[in-house]
Amino acid sequence: MAAEMGTASWGFCPACGTPLVGKVLDHRKRGVCPSCSHVQWRNAKPCAGALVIRNGKVLLVRRIIEPFRGYWDIPGGFCEADEHPAETALREVREETGLEIELTGLLGIWLDLYVETPTLNVYYSGRPLSRRLQLGDDAGGAAWFSPVALPPRIAFDNGRQVLTIWASGDSTPLHFRGTRIVVADQDR
Ligand SMILES: [Zn+2]
Repeated sequence: MAAEMGTASWGFCPACGTPLVGKVLDHRKRGVCPSCSHVQWRNAKPCAGALVIRNGKVLLVRRIIEPFRGYWDIPGGFCEADEHPAETALREVREETGLEIELTGLLGIWLDLYVETPTLNVYYSGRPLSRRLQLGDDAGGAAWFSPVALPPRIAFDNGRQVLTIWASGDSTPLHFRGTRIVVADQDR
């Protein structure tokens, strides 16, 4: 989840430019404009990616930009405003690896941060329909990894989490994956 924000970091009102102040609304502290009452609602940005599997191995790409420069990453990215996450996953895999794929399932939804931006990350499984890898501008390499030999440096907490679930065959029900719910410890 997002780091706790100090009172100095609420920023400025996008409507009138007045410094926002922290105020509890609907049970959460939010930036509110003392001048025009504008409320800075915060929402996670939707992102999507795909674990492309061939012969039991998953396709990862190497990042050449920050954050996580040099780390291995699941092909994926931010959803456009009018784009379903499934379309985002297909597009991002095509742009980053040159592969046409088909989606074969939904792996789950994970919350995370992209630097300071809260993200909601939808992950699909998929299989390639074409064979030839052709790397995009923002990928420094691509390789297939066995579930027992994933690379140590994987970009983003949510990327590590979804790959761990895939690699371990974790049986957590789909709708609980990526939440902070620990089913066994829930109060009754
Ligand atoms: Zn204002």
